[in-house]
Amino acid sequence: MELKNLMEEVVWQELKEVLRQREDICHCQNCQHDIAALALNQLPPKYVATQNGEIYAKVVMLRAQLHADVLTAISKALLTVTQNPRHGS
Ligand SMILES: [Zn+2]
Repeated sequence: MELKNLMEEVVWQELKEVLRQREDICHCQNCQHDIAALALNQLPPKYVATQNGEIYAKVVMLRAQLHADVLTAISKALLTVTQNPRHGS
């Protein structure tokens, strides 16, 4: 068994979608991780103890349920990070 925060998977999937549509935002690893961390701090964690392979279906379900909440959290995180990017220096 493995302990996994499903919300993390959901946020990464949604974030990849958002980044695909927005070429005006920085796509570097630093910014992506900062955005994901900020978004995740606004969202409740969804931990599951799971076997390998079971995760995918659960992520799909959770993503459908929480799509709007996750997008809102990502938009806020995006604003914060694009105003204070940490990819310099
Ligand atoms: Zn960046």
